[in-house]
Amino acid sequence: MSTLAPIHLWQIPNSTTSDHEQLHALTEALEANLHTWAQRFTRITQANSLAVEDMVITDALARLGLAIDVFVLDTGKLHPETLEYLDHISQRYPHVSIRRFSPQDSAVQHFADNYDFSDIYQSLTARKACCYARKIEPLQRALVGYEAWITGQRREQAATRTQLEVEEFDEAHQLYKFNPLAAWSQHHIWAYIQQHQLPINPLYHQGIPSIGCEPCTKPIRQDEELRAGRWWWENQNSKECGLHAN
Ligand code: SF4
Repeated sequence: MSTLAPIHLWQIPNSTTSDHEQLHALTEALEANLHTWAQRFTRITQANSLAVEDMVITDALARLGLAIDVFVLDTGKLHPETLEYLDHISQRYPHVSIRRFSPQDSAVQHFADNYDFSDIYQSLTARKACCYARKIEPLQRALVGYEAWITGQRREQAATRTQLEVEEFDEAHQLYKFNPLAAWSQHHIWAYIQQHQLPINPLYHQGIPSIGCEPCTKPIRQDEELRAGRWWWENQNSKECGLHAN
């Protein structure tokens, strides 16, 4: 009788001495960019998905006391762990304005009038309709009145992000978009978390390296791409929710 090989779930990586050494320069560059953008724009905001990347940025702007506010898209489908974590970080950064945007009741109802929720697993159209109601439309509201926004995207995260620039113009929303961690590796991110002793979303301890909505996120194996657990039933090139479609 053959025995099945054990499944090794993704685990938080150990950062090396070299990662910590490189982190110094990366953090200086991040802080310089945040300072520059805060001076350049009077209305600039950060999208925080409650993933470690976004927490690095929120932590940096809080330490620097910059007038950059933060928003979270509460899709109504987040893990309970993520919602608890959101409460926790709101207490940790009392001087940072963290705005929470939820889907409109009418949009959720419109989706329900046209689809069963489980249709998202069978139909890309249904999945995108759900993302539109719960993420894209709330994002549009979150960005109203702003000149620029900041994200925690990194090139290493997925096939769809390898060409990511630090500064780009977001044609879809007609404002500047900054990705200050574009060149950071996951080891740099975790080195920052360690050095600054930041609390993390507990989902990272469950083999989930990319935080999203509960129905569309699952743990991954150690050898998989970091976003493999997001919309895992779809092919690589459709695996964005539309938040970062330019
Ligand atoms: S990620 Fe999943 S649950 Fe969340 S908005 Fe998109 S389809 Fe809906």
